[in-house]
Amino acid sequence: MRIAVLALQGAFAEHEQMLQRLGVETFQIRQLADWEQPKDGLIIPGGESTVQAKLLSDLHLLEPIRNTISDGLPVFGTCAGLILLSKQIEGEPATRLATMDTEVLRNAYGRQLGSFYTIAPMKGVGEDIPMTFIRAPYIRKVKGDTEILAEVDGHIVAARQGKQLVTSFHPELNDDTRVHEYFLSMI
Ligand code: GLN
Repeated sequence: MRIAVLALQGAFAEHEQMLQRLGVETFQIRQLADWEQPKDGLIIPGGESTVQAKLLSDLHLLEPIRNTISDGLPVFGTCAGLILLSKQIEGEPATRLATMDTEVLRNAYGRQLGSFYTIAPMKGVGEDIPMTFIRAPYIRKVKGDTEILAEVDGHIVAARQGKQLVTSFHPELNDDTRVHEYFLSMI
């Protein structure tokens, strides 16, 4: 198995370390030529979604990645990755990958509660999943056949639609490998 990790900005190295711990080969997507390599899945890391969206567009990666996800490539987006995958972003035009039937609110926890840690259940993954939130979005609404996998304080923080998985928290920043294992099981 070979997983592509979008490495334009943000917490991509932590995802790679997590996958390597699970014995999975990874490679970085930094330009269009990288994207043309064979791959079994894609991870879009947390970071700053506006920066990642601009780089994806400038590097002509937006459309090829969107098309491949639409064709069924398994993808896992964390935090900014969730924002990039969502079809709707509250208060902003959708100029991103927009492949998943979710509506997100960016920086949803405000400045005071922008970063926090909790343990909560995630469907199909476990009852006690560590969740680290950093200036996180949450999912306001899911549509179509999108399934809610986790909620914290009444807000949706993980969802899946077909081969697309998103979390508003950062599983790559904790030692627990179960969310990544869940993603690998989707492939
Ligand atoms: N606040 C960031 C954004 O809007 C996301 C934060 C993160 O990925 N940790 O893009």
